[in-house]
Amino acid sequence: MRKICAANWKLNFSPDEARRYFVEWSELVGTIQQARQTPEQTAPLNCDVVFFTPAYDLPVAVEFAVKNGFQIGPQNIYFVNSGAFTGEISPQAVRALGAEVALIGHSERRTLFGETDEAIAKKVKASMSADLMPILCVGESLAERESNQTKDIVGRQLRGGLELIIGDFAQSRRFTIAYEPVWAIGTGKVATPAQASDMHAEIRTELETLLGKKRAHEIPILYGGSVKPENARELASQANIDGFLVGGASLKPKDFLAIAATL
Ligand code: PEP
Repeated sequence: MRKICAANWKLNFSPDEARRYFVEWSELVGTIQQARQTPEQTAPLNCDVVFFTPAYDLPVAVEFAVKNGFQIGPQNIYFVNSGAFTGEISPQAVRALGAEVALIGHSERRTLFGETDEAIAKKVKASMSADLMPILCVGESLAERESNQTKDIVGRQLRGGLELIIGDFAQSRRFTIAYEPVWAIGTGKVATPAQASDMHAEIRTELETLLGKKRAHEIPILYGGSVKPENARELASQANIDGFLVGGASLKPKDFLAIAATL
């Protein structure tokens, strides 16, 4: 399966700043292309690159995505495409703009904005209906890990998030899981390669139960939580780690590229 390196910019970068970022990104990728003598029409990295930008940066991102061969998407969507839902983001509208992916159920959405497994399940379904590949985030808090509840919590989030798409839908369309222990997000505390790899294996087993063995092995499971250029290579070498979801370190094009290059 092709690996994925996804950037979560969170609430950072105005459209002007986003443009400056992508100019720098294009230059850096161009340098790798030349160094490796990669033909222009061939991707210079061995993974798919995704940028989750604030919604107002998507028009700028899409210009560069076409030229640079990366994918873009919103950090959240609503489960309805239009109507009286002030402040929400329509899956169909962002798809029409050129988004190909959607981040769903990030722990900041769950904890700060009260997103439940039920709402997340609807968002996963709406995203797939709009032909946006969902990256569904799951992960336990520190208290949950310390009280040995990690597997139960992550299992519940997985079953909850996939509940409305089990069946034909889940068999026929692409989706991705991101395991992000909440205690490792933005804290500088990265899960050890063994901790991450153990949970990824658990998630794979749960996916086998939910979707069958063949399908479970086609679904990328990304790790997220304080991934940096210094720790990415060892994490990337673990079984069942099929890519990264990167917050803080994705704000510097050079660091994000160094992480992507480990995949
Ligand atoms: C994230 O926001 O999904 C994330 C993993 O953040 P960080 O890399 O900063 O921990």
